[in-house]
Amino acid sequence: MEQQSVAAGRQEEQRENMDVLVSTQTVIHKALDKLGYPEAVYELLKEPMRVLTVRIPVRMDDGTVKVFTGYRAQHNDAVGPTKGGVRFHPDVTESEVKALSIWMSLKAGIVDLPYGGGKGGIICDPRNMSFRELERLSRGYVRAISQIVGPTKDIPAPDVFTNSQIMAWMMDEYSRIREFDSPGFITGKPLVLGGSRGRETATAKGVTLMIREAAKKRGLSIEGARVVIQGFGNAGSFLAKFMHDAGAKVIGISDAYGALHDPDGLDIDYLLDRRDSFGTVTKLFKDTITNQELLELDCDILVPAAVENQITAKNADRIKADIVVEAANGPTTLEATKILHERDILLVPDVLASAGGVTVSYFEWVQNNQGYYWSDEEVEQKLEDIMVRAFENVYNTAQTRKVDMRLAAYMVGVRKMAEASRFRGWV
Ligand code: GLU
Repeated sequence: MEQQSVAAGRQEEQRENMDVLVSTQTVIHKALDKLGYPEAVYELLKEPMRVLTVRIPVRMDDGTVKVFTGYRAQHNDAVGPTKGGVRFHPDVTESEVKALSIWMSLKAGIVDLPYGGGKGGIICDPRNMSFRELERLSRGYVRAISQIVGPTKDIPAPDVFTNSQIMAWMMDEYSRIREFDSPGFITGKPLVLGGSRGRETATAKGVTLMIREAAKKRGLSIEGARVVIQGFGNAGSFLAKFMHDAGAKVIGISDAYGALHDPDGLDIDYLLDRRDSFGTVTKLFKDTITNQELLELDCDILVPAAVENQITAKNADRIKADIVVEAANGPTTLEATKILHERDILLVPDVLASAGGVTVSYFEWVQNNQGYYWSDEEVEQKLEDIMVRAFENVYNTAQTRKVDMRLAAYMVGVRKMAEASRFRGWV
């Protein structure tokens, strides 16, 4: 009996598709079908229109040369130039970068920005590289992709393990190549180089707004709500702070090495103070739990803000939260999405929940193009208007079309791109 259930479990695992590109293609197909578009539109949108693979030689500090592999994927530019971050991570693959570029198109569609989606990645581990090695790698990447990017073509930004310093080097390299100052080539820059106020905290601000809106729908008060956040990077750490400041009880957080739990609420200010630039903090504690245990904690709001495929068919039955808000890209598999939907857990999907980052990136690009800069209040108000409108749109689509929130978000996100491609006569 025991043996049989183990075998069945394994089969289940094998059947569940963890390939993020295949998953996103599956939902895009469904969304286009629901909207009544012909198969040709799916054929156009199921893969990026362009993917460049580059090899980047970097002189390391010890004098040796190491050659890194990088990618830039541009999904679809019917609506406007493509846009999206660059991640530096050892697990980057071409297929993942492709899926991430498609998600960027969907985000831009959902919050109604004049962009298509793009994404870049370099296979490397910045945790083991020096400052100067990272500078040489960043500049080498820009030289390698310079032909296909630019302020009116494809605009990079930060993503996992990249930050404003890396954006500054990339902008400087691009400006040198083009021989004119090009702040609009990249977003997420330091303020003194044309960055926007509010960009650093934008993803977390957007997630906070989505939590607020979802909580309203569920009649849940943020004051005193028990929140669990997986991941303590840019999104997770600022989010913990915002939720804490709003009166919620952050009872669990984690990094790549483990998780912390305190049912009475963690000391977020202390943790923020002790985290390193990669969001590592749990190594300082003896009493930790695993990331898997963290996801199953008794709480009201669960926010996966780390990496892909965290909530799967294996643990979706044991999620205790009433609301799940995806701050990471692709943290929940399609099978798990179905299980959460059947269990009436309100899921705010990644392509909606994490769109605050690219929204303020858009503000940054607009400000660079105008050469006129906005106040914190102006950025915040505009971000709130856009995110709340997008939430209502996706939520109402889910209600009226009787679909789950992920499919609803894809339906909203894909429509503008499909229409623009049609008007241009591509399909
Ligand atoms: N990397 C972020 C994302 O996945 C932001 C992209 C941008 O600002 O262009 O949405």
